[in-house]
Amino acid sequence: MARKRDYYEILGVAKDANETEIKASYRKLALKYHPDKNPGDNEAEEKFKEAAEAYEVLRDSQKRKIYDRYGHQGLEGSGFSGFGGFEDIFSTFGDIFEEFFGFSSGRRSSYTRSNARKGNDLRYDMELDFMKAAFGTESEIEISKTELCPDCKGSGCEPGTQPETCRYCNGAGQVARSQGFFTIKTTCPYCHGKGQTIAQGCSKCRSQGRVVVHKKVTVKIPPGVDTGSRLRLTGEGEAGLNGGPHGDLYVFLHIKQHDFFKRDNDNIICQIPISFVQAALGDKIKVPTLTGEKILEIPKGTQPNDVFYFQGEGIPSLRNSNIRGDQLIQVLIKTPTNLSKKQESLLREFADLESSKFSQRLKNLLKGDKSSAVN
Ligand SMILES: [Zn+2]
Ligand SMILES: [Zn+2]
Repeated sequence: MARKRDYYEILGVAKDANETEIKASYRKLALKYHPDKNPGDNEAEEKFKEAAEAYEVLRDSQKRKIYDRYGHQGLEGSGFSGFGGFEDIFSTFGDIFEEFFGFSSGRRSSYTRSNARKGNDLRYDMELDFMKAAFGTESEIEISKTELCPDCKGSGCEPGTQPETCRYCNGAGQVARSQGFFTIKTTCPYCHGKGQTIAQGCSKCRSQGRVVVHKKVTVKIPPGVDTGSRLRLTGEGEAGLNGGPHGDLYVFLHIKQHDFFKRDNDNIICQIPISFVQAALGDKIKVPTLTGEKILEIPKGTQPNDVFYFQGEGIPSLRNSNIRGDQLIQVLIKTPTNLSKKQESLLREFADLESSKFSQRLKNLLKGDKSSAVN
């Protein structure tokens, strides 16, 4: 291995350079040698790593002091032993890159956020009345979820105390082990890569950094939702890990059946019984709609299961609540029972008139007179 270059030399700054100068110089080098700009260029990659390592030391006043006094050797004993490879650089420098470049490069982001993880999504199943689903509503639900501990802010340390450097890995977060010519680095099993351990645990969360909370959440339900509709409440899921964002809350809707209205997408269907007299002679009847009663005109000679429409009296569309489906009214023709003597004799009289007409038609049919058959 080549002799390590001086950190000030690498960054091209004076020994007494201030933070701003160091940062500016590093930024220039990082941009110039960034692997995304120099694909496949090993020399650039080396320079990039070298600059990152130098910056990591010189930006930290404590490490810089050690380095100024004892050089590279001094740092090796302090738990800071350089870099194992690319992933190390990216995970260590995630926040720096963010600050410098406002990163968007895909290859990097997988490294940058290697420790930060989005919190779990939550699911809540909600039953909803037919009418509330049709016209929308606001509903308050209570959910249980994990949040960052308010006392320790997720660190797991008792407020007022500090975490201590992991004794197993000296704060590096990694442990090295030699195997032949290779040095294999693995995540420290004691601190799980954090480099720190808890000296005095937070009593509120028992060092977990998270607590279970019950939270009331107001869910706005838009008009037109149906069973199977799913609402997403961004950020209402569980707390993220290591500064990651909250998960989301998904509300799954189940719409209760209505006694009178059935739903078919944005249309509603209902059935209205009428008497055979109303069907034969025609009538005006009252029909319930979603917003009140409306008069339906039944024409003379209405047949069983005929369907009538009230345009725009259905469910508001989920996409545009100004547009509503239709109400479909199917008429069911009831045969009368428990007839009075008078009714019965009238019907017989009616039937006599009918039967002579029917028998005439039958005769015509047998003769093959199609014009009568159609009638
Ligand atoms: Zn706590
Ligand atoms: Zn450790």
